[in-house]
Amino acid sequence: MISIVGNDMLCNTVQNFIKEKRIPHAILIEGDYGTGKHTLAKYISKAIVCAENNSPCENCGNCHLASVNSHPDITVVCAQDGKKTITVSQVREIRNDAYIKPHQAQKRIFIIDGADTMNEQSQNALLKVLEEPPTAVMFILIAENKSGLLDTIISRCVTLTLNPPEFKVGFDYIKSKTNHNDELIKEALQNEKNNIGRALNALQGVSSSKTETAAKQYLEFAINGDTFSMLKTVAAYSKNRVDADNFVKDLKYVIAQKIRKSPSSNLSKPLMSIYNVIPEFEDSLLTNINLNLLFCNLTAKMTDHIRRNK
Ligand SMILES: [Zn+2]
Repeated sequence: MISIVGNDMLCNTVQNFIKEKRIPHAILIEGDYGTGKHTLAKYISKAIVCAENNSPCENCGNCHLASVNSHPDITVVCAQDGKKTITVSQVREIRNDAYIKPHQAQKRIFIIDGADTMNEQSQNALLKVLEEPPTAVMFILIAENKSGLLDTIISRCVTLTLNPPEFKVGFDYIKSKTNHNDELIKEALQNEKNNIGRALNALQGVSSSKTETAAKQYLEFAINGDTFSMLKTVAAYSKNRVDADNFVKDLKYVIAQKIRKSPSSNLSKPLMSIYNVIPEFEDSLLTNINLNLLFCNLTAKMTDHIRRNK
């Protein structure tokens, strides 16, 4: 049985598809980051390759291979080599491969991860095979937001939308899986709009991250107008994009924490305006901007907001 917290009805629907052996030939799984899209895609593909009656049985060779992402009949296609989109040549490859017989399962499955990042040309290329799919093929499209997909693609798929759970359900789930105290769990879930995956990430940062300590110091220096110490603190994170990304995420988190702790303090207004400009920096991190320069700008912007509002 599959269980994705807060999505019981959807899981029942999937379970029925599988039990009654009427799995659609194209499924679109839609949902925000951290809502369980990949878990669901994996479960469905395993159920298809498993040849046992109670599929997925979790015991047969097909299930084992699918569990470790090595089943020869399950192909995952996603953006490659630092690109942000799935290219038309990748889609053409899917089209060609779709006509090759499955190796050992009844069907071949193509999981298109980040389907909403395909441009129109790629989507139209995919449409051709979605319209007349070979019988032994199934497609699972994964998207954060289906509005990035052509209507003609959406209409060929059965859409399964994953939602974050109600607060109480998410809270109980995280409580059962971690040792964090109630207050931290509550805060993480509220910050992340009940998104369990994101909240768990944030909580991981709280308990172990050096980055969070650095982000806290950076914020304190900003409040004191100590630009020099800010730049010194951030220097360690401007060497690579992953570190920089983690730092900015944690900074956002510590700012939110600080606002929440004393919402009526003089600082809450400038902190709020800093919080609101951070997404702009997160976007810049996705481009090839010079990281040193990025952090210089962030430092200047933060001290400026605090100075002006004091
Ligand atoms: Zn099995």
